[in-house]
Amino acid sequence: MSKDACLSEFAVIQRFFTRQTAANSSTRLGIGDDCALLAIPDGYELAVTTDTMVENVHFFAGTDPGQLGHKLLAVNLSDLASMGAKPVSVTLALTMPSVDENWLTAFAHGFLTLAERFSVDLIGGDTTSGALTLTVQALGFVPRGQALLRSTARPGDFIYLSGNLGDAGLGLKITQGYNCADPDAALARFNGPLPRIETGLALCGVANACIDLSDGLAGDLGHILEQSGVGACIDWGALPLSDAVLAYIEATGDWFMPLVAGDDYELCFTVSPENAARVPATCRNIGVIEAASGLRLNKSGTIQLLKVKGYEHFS
Ligand code: ADP
Ligand code: MG
Repeated sequence: MSKDACLSEFAVIQRFFTRQTAANSSTRLGIGDDCALLAIPDGYELAVTTDTMVENVHFFAGTDPGQLGHKLLAVNLSDLASMGAKPVSVTLALTMPSVDENWLTAFAHGFLTLAERFSVDLIGGDTTSGALTLTVQALGFVPRGQALLRSTARPGDFIYLSGNLGDAGLGLKITQGYNCADPDAALARFNGPLPRIETGLALCGVANACIDLSDGLAGDLGHILEQSGVGACIDWGALPLSDAVLAYIEATGDWFMPLVAGDDYELCFTVSPENAARVPATCRNIGVIEAASGLRLNKSGTIQLLKVKGYEHFS
């Protein structure tokens, strides 16, 4: 932190990020010492994940700080959801060019409001000066041996989605100038994704494999297929698409968008047929896992191979 900043590093932490009472009973010691301390209940494993958001890579300069705080936490909690873990606490590494109190107030509000919703405590972090870079580490508990992995899909499993596909992708197009008749819902999905925590918890002991959709269905389902050594066929007609996304496809002919656009943060999971009745009613069956490798799309009876790579930072 620069010396001429109006608030010191410690004052920033104290003022914007420190809460007096813990929301989560596992928090033994929060912000203020060299480490935080957590109590881990018997019979549970600790699920740990981290995600970074860099200005001009993951978000545009000038992005609303409240939305940024929300989304930064949401994308990390989404990784816990996809493992079937219950979120417990997070740490926040904040690198920023200067201390902008208005920015910090809005950012902390977006972040901590979502944290409270899931009884997640912010238990520590680091505060440094530099180009705007936001990193969260999220911690959660999952019953021992029951975490939902990418590597355990089996031929014959049905493939499900926890919600609509492509709304966040449409929201991104709208921010880039696409003229949508009814933009609000798509923009809300792009700017304010909600981690599917309850769905993830309900899938423990039900799903065989699970992933959250950050980079698009084709790429992310592709990770399940590769790691499980299987293939899949998805049914175009079964994909849950909003009216706004259907109108976008009608207007542009770009039917590929909902298959490859990122940021939906829905869960994509596989379930063996005997467990299908236990899948939450809000989820949609979109296809089936097959022994033959590759991701196929059945579009009006014509089967085509989808060759899609997710976003890769260094290629
Ligand atoms: P240290 O020098 O031991 O790394 P710091 O001075 O970086 O300690 O941090 C002091 C305390 O404030 C620690 O408990 C740390 O976890 C916490 N902390 C620092 N930055 C943040 C932040 N952005 N959000 C939450 N807690 C923070
Ligand atoms: Mg430090």
